[in-house]
Amino acid sequence: MNHFEYRDGVLHAEGVSVPDIAAATGTPFYCYSSATLERHYEVFSQAFKGQKARICYAIKANSNLAVIRTLARLGAGADVVSEGELRRALAAGVPASKIVFSGVAKTDAEIAFALDVGIDQFNVESEPELDAISRVAAGMGKTARVALRVNPDVDAKTHEKIATGKAENKFGISWRRAPAVYAHARTLPGIEISGIDVHIGSQLTDLEPFSTAFTRVGEMVEALRADGHNITRIDLGGGLGIPYRGDNDLPPHPDEYAAMVKRTLGHLDCELTFEPGRLIAGNAGILVTRVIYEKVGDDRTFLIVDAGMNDLIRPTLYDAFHEIRPVAEPAPGAEEVEYDVVGPVCETGDTFARKRRLPRLKAGDLVAVMSAGAYGAVQASEYNTRPLVPEILVRGEHFAEVRARPSYDAMLRQDIMPDWLSD
Ligand SMILES: *Cc1c(COP(=O)(O)O)cnc(C)c1O
Repeated sequence: MNHFEYRDGVLHAEGVSVPDIAAATGTPFYCYSSATLERHYEVFSQAFKGQKARICYAIKANSNLAVIRTLARLGAGADVVSEGELRRALAAGVPASKIVFSGVAKTDAEIAFALDVGIDQFNVESEPELDAISRVAAGMGKTARVALRVNPDVDAKTHEKIATGKAENKFGISWRRAPAVYAHARTLPGIEISGIDVHIGSQLTDLEPFSTAFTRVGEMVEALRADGHNITRIDLGGGLGIPYRGDNDLPPHPDEYAAMVKRTLGHLDCELTFEPGRLIAGNAGILVTRVIYEKVGDDRTFLIVDAGMNDLIRPTLYDAFHEIRPVAEPAPGAEEVEYDVVGPVCETGDTFARKRRLPRLKAGDLVAVMSAGAYGAVQASEYNTRPLVPEILVRGEHFAEVRARPSYDAMLRQDIMPDWLSD
């Protein structure tokens, strides 16, 4: 469910008309709905009422400070994968005691910073990383609380670029090697083992891979406990999928997911951590763009819009489907055209949709690329020297720019002329 609806024939974000934002900000821009962010957080959180669970929002899905703060105010913790994200979480008001640090290659400097600010838990992805955390922590006279991220070798049945739980993926420690790594961890200074961690991929639309992985994790917890490890925590990562095609192919509801978690792991009486990203932010954001040209080719009709793959790379990177809606509500029975919706970037991959039936549109019309709140703005670049698009946060009848569009001057100032070229 989201709060982007037509009202009086115009797409609104909660109580704000999208053309009003476009008039104030220019296009393209990302627009997020506070009510949708909050609703998704609450639905997930409610699903785990009665289980010992906490939610650490995966910052990488959408790391705008205002988005993080909106969630932090509801009690969310944060899952971070870099020092930069850790700094964002802290700056947005997430207490260090609710922050877990994931990611395959934490550097010594990142580890030291995280220990210094006192994060709650490191999710460790390899033996060398475990040794590095031990060395840095011991050197600082601190103890790092760690969970080992195991790779359960489960096919997440999602796009290959967002599957992380197969043996061939770079993520986590092989579940076969895990007992030996736990035994090693116990001998290390500066390390307190608290649990186990798993994250098998993103945009999972079926519970079966989760339950296979979680069952394997549960068996591992029992085996580790039998070996004398004090395993009190299980971090189950994120990955629950969202609907990208309206209500036609709904992924499992958080309630069903929570029931499956209870079934597979409830008997272990562990504290659970969840790291949802997409589920919270995905359908809470849209990318609003303006048609520059309708170009009739020999073979296709192209709708060329002012947003490009540098602003939203998901269609190119993951073959992702995004619903595209005209901001002006089409009249019932309006003429439809089959469009390739493309951006201005000099790449054939700069395509948002192929052969998409849409009402006839013309230059100047606004369209919304839906479900763009997660892995949208965070993956944007300045390719083709296009300014990063601004981000707008709506709350009820109000909206605010929560990231401004940089000026061309500011963009060019980032480059530095070496002295042998400055004349
Ligand atoms: C990306 C990621 C998440 C969030 O995944 P979603 O599919 O957005 O829920 C959670 N945990 C880890 C370790 C990740 O890498």
